[in-house]
Amino acid sequence: MRNFIYLCLAHMSEEGWEQKYVKEAFDTNWVVPMGPNVNAFEQNLADFVNRKTDGNLDRKVVCLSAGTAAVHLALIGCGVKAGDEVLVQSFTFCASSHPVTYLGARPVFVGSEKDTWNMDPKLLEMAIKDRKEKTGRYPKAIVPVALYGMPYRIDEICEIADKYGILVVEDAAEGMGSRYKGQVLGTFGKYGVLSFNGNKMITTSGGGALICRNADDANEIMWYATQARDAYPYYQHSAVGYNYRMSNVCAGIGRGQMTVLESHIDHHKHVQELYMELLKDVKGVKLHCQPDDERYDSNFWLCTATLEPEVKVVDQDNAYKEVVNTAVGGAAGVIHTVDSAVTDCQPNNNVEALRIYMLGKKVEVRPVWKPMHKQPVYKDAPVYTNGVEEEIFKVGFCLPAGPCVTDEDVKYIVDCIKEAIES
Ligand SMILES: *Cc1c(COP(=O)(O)O)cnc(C)c1O
Repeated sequence: MRNFIYLCLAHMSEEGWEQKYVKEAFDTNWVVPMGPNVNAFEQNLADFVNRKTDGNLDRKVVCLSAGTAAVHLALIGCGVKAGDEVLVQSFTFCASSHPVTYLGARPVFVGSEKDTWNMDPKLLEMAIKDRKEKTGRYPKAIVPVALYGMPYRIDEICEIADKYGILVVEDAAEGMGSRYKGQVLGTFGKYGVLSFNGNKMITTSGGGALICRNADDANEIMWYATQARDAYPYYQHSAVGYNYRMSNVCAGIGRGQMTVLESHIDHHKHVQELYMELLKDVKGVKLHCQPDDERYDSNFWLCTATLEPEVKVVDQDNAYKEVVNTAVGGAAGVIHTVDSAVTDCQPNNNVEALRIYMLGKKVEVRPVWKPMHKQPVYKDAPVYTNGVEEEIFKVGFCLPAGPCVTDEDVKYIVDCIKEAIES
């Protein structure tokens, strides 16, 4: 019997390092949100992100309870306050923009460009000028996102950011180990966000980290992550802090995962190459590749593709006929039920039919992220777009690429896609 093929499943080291470090946390009674595993994991991460093809960097890394917490604290580190505006890539997972809202600030969404699917520098500059004109002030921060691992146009984005004196928070949650000009994503901006959720490049079950420019910034982030306490024998607070530090137990998993990080990244790239070869002749399906430009080095966290609207997929006339009662991807937690099977912005019928077909073949296929400016919760947020990400949302889908996906699986997945397409 064939096992279900998920997009990206957690995968532990063969040697069981994760369990050894977790056991150490129990044996030494460091079952708290600090300790030797946290310190060592932070050092491992810093060593990883600081390695460059030409020389080394000296970034500091602070481990946190989630990637979302890392975005939140990065914005605080940038001085974002209630009433401020923050420019966020619209084509992303909600964790890039929700923390802006937590702070009482306002996300202003920026559209994507075709090659990387990430923040379009032209739209970014247009947005900056227009916000200044409309509000009299510049936005406080810019949040580009390494969608599915793909590096953003960081040179152009940083140049614009510098020109207007706006800070950059890189959301590299999906882009851990992706590089631009040989330098790891997350090390270009003032802060860089990493995530160790269960389905990311490596996992701590749940967790995240913030890459900081220097020790002072890292200390400030750590202060906010531990309830912002002042040095008195009792609890004294001069600011509102958060309980966002990583547990020493989770950090044990992270230390073990660092031993497989490079091989995970190599595997994701290998899977991308296999798809590239096998999907080459499948008419109407186009694998999303990185720009033909040696500066770009994506980790291909998820492999993505687009399906031309003309392509007929088995049973596509029945797509969206039934109200779905679980969220796609088996998301954890509670999902509100809905009355309608459709929204005014959704993947094309053939893409939905492909998802259902593949589910029947025990393969997880998912739509790409729905742009934030098309989310009901952000219906009033300003947006600057050419519609590129809206178009990609209609035709795009994600394919399994994780460390558990074998060459055999990729061949099977591509065969299933061919079967699903009616010629
Ligand atoms: C996963 C992710 C995050 C962080 O998520 P956590 O689940 O809180 O670790 C942030 N941004 C993007 C784009 C992500 O995919």
